[in-house]
Amino acid sequence: MQTIVKAPAKINLTLDVVRKRDDGFHDVEMVMTTIDLADRIHLKTLETDQIIIDVTKGYVPSDEKNLAYQAAHLLKERLGIKKGVSIFIDKQIPVSAGLAGGSSDAAAVLRGLNDIWELGLTLDELAEIGLQIGSDVPFCVYGGTAIARGRGEKLEFISAPPPCWVILAKPPIGVSTKEVYQRIKVDEVDHPQTALMVKAIESNNFEQVCSNLSNVMEDVTFNMHPAVKKIKDRMKQFGSEGTVMSGSGPTVFSLTQNDSKAERLYNGLKGFVEQVYTVRLLGQRHK
Ligand code: ATP
Repeated sequence: MQTIVKAPAKINLTLDVVRKRDDGFHDVEMVMTTIDLADRIHLKTLETDQIIIDVTKGYVPSDEKNLAYQAAHLLKERLGIKKGVSIFIDKQIPVSAGLAGGSSDAAAVLRGLNDIWELGLTLDELAEIGLQIGSDVPFCVYGGTAIARGRGEKLEFISAPPPCWVILAKPPIGVSTKEVYQRIKVDEVDHPQTALMVKAIESNNFEQVCSNLSNVMEDVTFNMHPAVKKIKDRMKQFGSEGTVMSGSGPTVFSLTQNDSKAERLYNGLKGFVEQVYTVRLLGQRHK
């Protein structure tokens, strides 16, 4: 049995860090949605009890450190499955970019294996298994658009934002999410207006979606890596309607509904950043 599963990236329309918890995690509140920038995961059942990972980017681990491996392993362990799987990851999502590429691969493996192994698990059950791998995996299991709270696993689904182009630029910088969390001063920062973003989405108001884009981690990442702020400034200069950093960065994205503006932004950015993408916003949940 084999299948190909799409693993779309997520972006944060808002990202707020509410407080640090006693268990070391942070409580967050964020509006997340999926975009049509996706890895493709090829799954093939093996009769032998092993998990083989092959990935198109050499610096992504191909052993048990790969989140796709962990997903297959957990599923096999949980259900006592003795057969194995070969997982080929055609990596299109930039790595360590704030786009949850690894989490989405793990989620796609859970969905794909549930399908080809006919396990009959619900998305809720897959999400619960996914949480053992990482805080963003449950969201990636469902896809769509949601307000995420707690560690990111408490999901409240909302309607898809108005259709638009998403222009993303990732500078060649690695951002440590851990360090951003350590440096953020939760009591001193301006917090995003999550409720206003939700209202803008629910009322299909693109302008207000753009004006409420907000990420509490931006200033911390900008201080550590001024190049990220430069990209945001460039995007504004090229006439973007709304621009914000995704996750802990370093990817910055702009939204626009205008085809020629999307093209202008893409071409303008391509002049000085190698990794630039123009994709559609997806926003709909997986079936
Ligand atoms: P952040 O965690 O900062 O939000 P991200 O979710 O965009 O960033 P990923 O692309 O998921 O980051 O990669 C984060 C780390 O996870 C990298 O160090 C990478 O080596 C490791 N990793 C494990 N499995 C995968 C995978 N399937 N795809 C990409 N990276 C993976």
